[in-house]
Amino acid sequence: MAYDRNNIFAKILRGEIPAHKVFEDEQTLVFMDVMPQSDGHTLVVPKAAAENLFDLDPAMAAAVMRTTQWVAHGVKRAFNADGITLMQFNGPVAGQTVFHFHMHVLPRYADQPLRSHGRSMAEPRILEEHARMIRAALEI
Ligand code: 5GP
Repeated sequence: MAYDRNNIFAKILRGEIPAHKVFEDEQTLVFMDVMPQSDGHTLVVPKAAAENLFDLDPAMAAAVMRTTQWVAHGVKRAFNADGITLMQFNGPVAGQTVFHFHMHVLPRYADQPLRSHGRSMAEPRILEEHARMIRAALEI
């Protein structure tokens, strides 16, 4: 499948639709998932037209992982999580629903299952507060 320039994350990257941003650098953008599976569910995307792992430039993959690792520290601290799950899906049969490569960063707690994938929208003011908490934990 060819990269669809009108996927929702491409629109966020171009600033055409809003997102609750946490951080950005030259190669990556970090923002809150609108349907969080756990409070603090954060997404890390490359600033490159890559649909999935297989067409992501290795240098970009390295940049995404560097940002993901750093942001995971902030998410864990901000939400006092017992652990962090990283998720990343490639292709519809693997569960991918937005066709721009992204890493999910999910706070986890003992005996607490994740909420369903892409099911219920969080309120914008809550997502903004969560983004603020992560920025504070990262001291940015
Ligand atoms: P995937 O299934 O492709 O790995 O995950 C896509 C993720 O994007 C889902 O967790 C879903 O909640 C999230 N998502 C879908 N639409 C939007 C949107 O417009 N803005 C944000 N911030 N996240 C979205």
